[in-house]
Amino acid sequence: MSKEMYSFSVEEYMAKDRFDKIKKLAKTNETPFLVINLKIVKEKYEELKANMPFAKIYYAIKANPANEIIKLLFELGSNFDVASIYELDQVLGLGVPVDRISFGNTIKKEKDIKYAFDKGIRLFVTDSSSDLEKISRQAKGSKVFFRLITEGSGADWPLSKKFGAHPDKIYQLILQSKNLDLEPYGLSFHVGSQQRDIGQWDESIAQCKYLFEAVKEQGIKLKMINMGGGFPGKYKNPAYDLPVYTKEITRFLNEDFPEGLPEIIIEPGRSIVADAGVIVSEIVLISKTSYLSPYKWVYLDIGKFSGLIETLDESIKYPIYIEKSGTVSEVILAGPTCDSQDILYEHFKYKFPVKIKDGDKVYIFTTGAYTQAYSSICFNGFPPLKMIIIE
Ligand SMILES: *Cc1c(COP(=O)(O)O)cnc(C)c1O
Repeated sequence: MSKEMYSFSVEEYMAKDRFDKIKKLAKTNETPFLVINLKIVKEKYEELKANMPFAKIYYAIKANPANEIIKLLFELGSNFDVASIYELDQVLGLGVPVDRISFGNTIKKEKDIKYAFDKGIRLFVTDSSSDLEKISRQAKGSKVFFRLITEGSGADWPLSKKFGAHPDKIYQLILQSKNLDLEPYGLSFHVGSQQRDIGQWDESIAQCKYLFEAVKEQGIKLKMINMGGGFPGKYKNPAYDLPVYTKEITRFLNEDFPEGLPEIIIEPGRSIVADAGVIVSEIVLISKTSYLSPYKWVYLDIGKFSGLIETLDESIKYPIYIEKSGTVSEVILAGPTCDSQDILYEHFKYKFPVKIKDGDKVYIFTTGAYTQAYSSICFNGFPPLKMIIIE
């Protein structure tokens, strides 16, 4: 046992009065549940807007598709990036006009392209000839933008490999689109989610610059760069604050486009909602596999299947708080289901007070993004993660 004392600064992640409201909810609600504070969502949106005033924001709704969040961001002036006809219907159903929505998934059924076009969508992403041909058949005259592949290195949750194409392929697609009754409009990339290496934007912006020039020689003038997401939430692994990101990215853009920026779009998901959420959970069981085992297993009432899927490969490390003090010991954290994949952190050891007991509340910070929407509908009978929205 170590002599190290437990310390956790709640205020590093959330102001005390805001956290007090969550503790109050923990007294009367059955765990687990996620609390989203809309005030924080608003602050995050406004901070990004203020730091990148030249960029049009398209909130990537997959990060947290709660109606209340979409309505709030709509009122604040946000646009929306949807990835399926279901997200499209949801956003339209909330009264968002179709010209504030883009269809940002490179993987689409032809009939879904038609559906989106019939609803009025005129802006599509693509990264393959087959998809481009589908768009040209079902969405004549639309604007298309072309997604560049990125390495995703430096990102805690990379979106690499699966999306995008190399610049030489993109070059061909742009030329092809001209002959298909489509308007080649711009380029896009996503440097990987929770990207902690700001230099990754520099590389992708430079590729955009190169392609802008290359197709110009063929008489095609691209007008837009969509820089995707990648902006940070506040997890255990340190990332720079948002203004450092925006300042650097703005500099990269100005260096590559000194004669004036093209239209710039960003699609933040995580950075808008992550810090606004706290999951309240409870310790179900503490055990040791043998008397001399150095680690306790701590089983929570939330796991990989009820919202914490981003602990896969221990990629995202959430700040976790327990209201106890004293000396600490290292623990292995796991979820409640009968599936041996449902282990949250085994290699990275969280240090909890030795005094923890079954039934203690556990507060998992920075869980507003990519949690509730990922929770399964009833694996082992556990219901999907509840969400409580406060202001
Ligand atoms: C998921 C996704 C985003 C959001 O990324 P974050 O890193 O969560 O901000 C943006 N654009 C596209 C195309 C995405 O797939």
